[in-house]
Amino acid sequence: MTTPGEILQRYRIRPDKRRGQSFLTDLNTIHKIAAAGKITREDLVVEIGAGFGVLTGNIAQRAGRLIAVEIDLKLVGILQKELAQCKQVEVFSGDILKFDFSCISKQYKSKIKVVGNIPYNISSPVVFHLLAHRRVIRDFTLMLQKEVVERLVSAPGRKSYGVPSVLLQMYADMKKLFDVPPGCFYPAPKITSSVMQGKFLEEPRFALEDEKLFNRLVRASFAQRRKMLANNLKQAAFLKELGEEDITSALRQAGIDGKRRGETLSVEEFGALSNFLKNQLTNRG
Ligand code: SAH
Repeated sequence: MTTPGEILQRYRIRPDKRRGQSFLTDLNTIHKIAAAGKITREDLVVEIGAGFGVLTGNIAQRAGRLIAVEIDLKLVGILQKELAQCKQVEVFSGDILKFDFSCISKQYKSKIKVVGNIPYNISSPVVFHLLAHRRVIRDFTLMLQKEVVERLVSAPGRKSYGVPSVLLQMYADMKKLFDVPPGCFYPAPKITSSVMQGKFLEEPRFALEDEKLFNRLVRASFAQRRKMLANNLKQAAFLKELGEEDITSALRQAGIDGKRRGETLSVEEFGALSNFLKNQLTNRG
């Protein structure tokens, strides 16, 4: 087997920082990430940011079909050459943020498993892109900056719990798998990375009457973290049609003390509160 170091040399690859290129060179970590995805011959897999294919080659041995998405044209060329023997691999040249998961899922009549050591500069947009396509994605195993993973898997009351934690966990079961130190990459990043795994639920964790309102509520509740929830809500533009007593009443119906801070609410509590606020808004309208 060709090692990552040999490929780097053979093609004289100069990592492009703007594209978040930090290539995995540690074989043990490459193996661990590919194995964590629990991929079988039945699976349709999409890899985000395949680079020159270190993970790709490993996943290809397990998957039924693998679509390796890469934006850098030089790397796309290398992938095509290095993986020419793997008939189950298709290299897709383009931006993952424009990648249409729903269309691919339809084409192959299968839900998708997503894997990737993803560029840190676009980690948040990637997560929201996956969320937008959650109905066709089974699960995702991703390596991100450690702090970002901690935010996405965080629980109420923790400092790292915030808007992304709630928005993602309404739709997915999240867990952190393991940390990966800088020495496992070339070039070595300044930060520690972590691998996380998410499984999208068939239905949201809480039956939401209005997903957009839920989204707004979560953002407003964390607008000023140190403020009481009731005060953050009274200042929220999307609730301006409601009077103080309507907000107080929705909080009471949801069984939530308005003196609490937003950061203490569970995902389900946010869900319940958004439904009761929806009720108040409908009654007003
Ligand atoms: N998976 C490889 C490469 C990780 S580095 C490895 O583990 O070694 C991240 C990769 O994502 C780079 O190859 C970079 O070119 C690619 N990339 C950056 N932005 C992208 C985008 N918007 N869409 C697809 N790939 C992207």
